Amino acid sequence: MAKIAIDGPAGAGKSTIAKAVAKELGWIYVDTGAMYRAIGLAALREGIVIKEQISEIEAMLPEIELRLRYENSVQRILLNGEDVSEAIRTPEASVAASDVSAIPAVRAAMLTQQRNIAEQENVVMDGRDIGTVVLPDAELKVFLTASAHARAKRRCKELMEKGQQVVFADVLKDIEYRDKQDSGRAVAPLQQAEDAILVDTTHLTLEQSIESVMNLVRTKL
Ligand code: C5P
Repeated sequence: MAKIAIDGPAGAGKSTIAKAVAKELGWIYVDTGAMYRAIGLAALREGIVIKEQISEIEAMLPEIELRLRYENSVQRILLNGEDVSEAIRTPEASVAASDVSAIPAVRAAMLTQQRNIAEQENVVMDGRDIGTVVLPDAELKVFLTASAHARAKRRCKELMEKGQQVVFADVLKDIEYRDKQDSGRAVAPLQQAEDAILVDTTHLTLEQSIESVMNLVRTKL
């Protein structure tokens, strides 16, 4: 099966671009961040203080069944049968996702599931460690980035369009918190794979960003 890996920090436009590329190719889009968010949400619901109760998270893992489902090519995520696709998009779930994603047992469980999906389907998979760890033999690896300021601005717009109330400074703080934690963790930190192509979208519109990734797809595949 063929694979495209798109990695980068929060708010760089990965999901929108990956979705557009998957649609163009007729492949499946896999949002791996949603999987970490669902685990984070499960921990929040259990009242677990993630950074202090690692063993509780580890004990919770075998009880969790995560499933990805596609409705008109749109990924939905089910946590023990419940569709949590919207519930995982809150700022609390973002922070919880980043916190649980530093736990090795969580990463190991997600890795197996992600590789299984990529064995069965042609995938455009986005995340933080797809090119480096999950799919090191992907046909194309893109590392998508933009300045923290530009990413926070886009995230604010996105959240406001969904009707959420946001304060720019809070969104920027959340992005900087996750950047630092995701890049600094011991297991599978956010980093550009040696053979990944860097695309900086700070000064690009969404259409231009999609076009530059599609150009790479056309040359590589
Ligand atoms: O991509 P998204 O912002 O939804 O991801 C939420 C969090 O999940 C990230 O901040 C990161 O900590 C974690 N994550 C990860 N590895 C991935 C995808 C996401 O550690 N492959």
